[in-house]
Amino acid sequence: MQKTSLALPSPIEEIVFDYSLFYLKRDDAIHPDFSGNKARKFHYFLTHDFPEIRRVVSYGSPQSNAMYSLSVLARIRGWMFDYYVDHISGYLRDHPHGNYARALANGMQLHATPRPEILPPDTLLIHEGGRQSEAEYGVAILAHEIADWQQEQGIDHLDIFLPSGTGTTALYLQKTFKKLSTLHSPLSTKIYTTPCVGDGSYLRKQFAMLEPDEKMWPTTLDLPRKYHFGKLYREFYEIWIELQQQTGVIFDLLYDPKGWLTLMAHRDQMGQHLLYLHQGGLQGNESMLRRYKRSFPHVNKDTKR
Ligand SMILES: *Cc1c(COP(=O)(O)O)cnc(C)c1O
Repeated sequence: MQKTSLALPSPIEEIVFDYSLFYLKRDDAIHPDFSGNKARKFHYFLTHDFPEIRRVVSYGSPQSNAMYSLSVLARIRGWMFDYYVDHISGYLRDHPHGNYARALANGMQLHATPRPEILPPDTLLIHEGGRQSEAEYGVAILAHEIADWQQEQGIDHLDIFLPSGTGTTALYLQKTFKKLSTLHSPLSTKIYTTPCVGDGSYLRKQFAMLEPDEKMWPTTLDLPRKYHFGKLYREFYEIWIELQQQTGVIFDLLYDPKGWLTLMAHRDQMGQHLLYLHQGGLQGNESMLRRYKRSFPHVNKDTKR
């Protein structure tokens, strides 16, 4: 049986990478099955009553962390789970692995058909990647955990960095900190992010869908080169290995390599106190690592960037 509670607040540790000190918020430690980020975004659905709901419907890619985490949520809540994809490769269908295999084991029904436009009242719709207003609930709890710690440590100004998919987490973090600082606190906290899916203008469109007031948006940083989501890049693999060797922490292979490369490229323009948000996602590493090892067999522990 799956564990139903989240281990909160998640710990904050100190790590040193390339001679710089970082605080690391370990949202990867929240739950063994939920990807840390999705545990925050789906927290609302885990802790509120939904007497009418019997089923959850969502859509997106057949390997996504959101899909897998929703299968865990559905199982914990005793809901059916229908998931719609535009396309699934014959290979994946015949050889289920990674998030897809685990979601199937949790009872997910996958449909490679358009999703129904009208859903019955016993059905909860979750948008792709969990981009919806209910996510604010869990992300605000995350912001308060960090704010309490910041106050305890006496850090007047804290910069926070996290890589984005839909940008939902970065947006609601910045929004909550804005509200906190106007309320009472002398502390200031600034959120930086980088787009991993699409480019900066895609990310800003995502922000706009959730929050029209641009003053609430995080600051977007990027690299000169364009990277495509889910593709393999030697420098991604190298920094992931380097991070593990220097810090002992395993990061995710989809978002964190772009995150850390962007952060290190802009390190100098940020303040002294910098916190990186580890958003979990390690369940997805299995299939990514298999691909990386096949594509870059010679990248190993002697790697120097
Ligand atoms: C889903 C996910 C993200 C992206 O979160 P958004 O709120 O969509 O920006 C980042 N990292 C991990 C590990 C994730 O699972």
